[in-house]
Amino acid sequence: MSRPSKIIIDLAAIQANCRLAQSIAPHSKTVAVIKADAYGHGAVEVAKSLEPQVEMFTVSCLEEALVLRENGISKPILLLEGCFDISELKIAADNQCELVVHSRLQLEQLIDTPLKTAINIWLKIDTGMHRLGISPQEVGAVYAKLAASKNVKNIVLMTHFAHSDHIGGEHTAMQISRFEDCIQPIVANANQKVELSMANSAALLAWYQTRMDWNRPGIMLYGLSPFAGPIEAASKLIPAMNFESQVIALRDVSTGESVGYGCTWEAKRPSVIATIAVGYGDGYPRTAKSGTPVLINKQRAPLAGRVSMDLITVDVTDLANVQIGDNVLLWGKELSANEVASWAGTIGYELVTRMPRRVTRHFV
Ligand code: PLP
Repeated sequence: MSRPSKIIIDLAAIQANCRLAQSIAPHSKTVAVIKADAYGHGAVEVAKSLEPQVEMFTVSCLEEALVLRENGISKPILLLEGCFDISELKIAADNQCELVVHSRLQLEQLIDTPLKTAINIWLKIDTGMHRLGISPQEVGAVYAKLAASKNVKNIVLMTHFAHSDHIGGEHTAMQISRFEDCIQPIVANANQKVELSMANSAALLAWYQTRMDWNRPGIMLYGLSPFAGPIEAASKLIPAMNFESQVIALRDVSTGESVGYGCTWEAKRPSVIATIAVGYGDGYPRTAKSGTPVLINKQRAPLAGRVSMDLITVDVTDLANVQIGDNVLLWGKELSANEVASWAGTIGYELVTRMPRRVTRHFV
């Protein structure tokens, strides 16, 4: 018998979420974003289940791509941060990786390194995120250098949004227009079609102008909405990670008694407290405040007191029939990780991505 905290990954839900992304933009190709171990869902298993359905995968770096190759994934893999040094370039080329080029340094390294095989390049344009990318003013010159290099096969022009979860917001509108302005001369003068890529999940769901040749959905594949509030287009997403544990102790606590470290929660009435085998050592956020919901036997109950390393305490005074051994859902299909995240001052992305190893992962 092992610790009862576990995550259950529903691969069919990920496939269904991907189909939803594809149905929104039927003329686009899909690069499934599976970096950071598929946002904590298991990159190898997710890639295997999506491989027949998508054209390509993307991860952060070469190391993540090689894990996929070692496990038999054969579709092209894009490295979102490109290569960190010249030694990685040859390995990337030999392993059918495609590279984001986001800086002058990467451009020079790529052009100056002799490679046996030419690589597909995604030229990242900084239209307003100001994190990675070539400035719109430099794009023409950089594109020309790439196009002239024998190391380069095809070039996709891409950008990434800073605030596409703000529906109708000015910043995304500005990024779209900067992108269109700076790619226009390249597209007009090219003697073959130049492929374009803008949309992440939020843009795909809410900014129809950004659905181009390639879309790059991440969080929506895992069934989490990128938006803070409810929106119709995201309502059909199916959360793919259920984070579960069990009640391991129950006690009565008298009025005026406190519960947990720091004595931050005090019983205002005679209360029943359930102790659950999950804590920040299992990826449950320590910053979750008293009141954060959990589901015990499908009934909501509020966190009472601080999250410890291995345990949380929950006020089950108003719940019928709670027993030791009862199942507890921390987040998943019936309780969104986004809702839990909002109680903990973070976002669902972070909660699902940082699950530690000691939580066993099961695939269904
Ligand atoms: N494209 C790029 C360049 C990214 O960095 C990311 C994620 O950070 C994505 C796409 C996917 O974004 P999301 O998970 O919001 O769909």
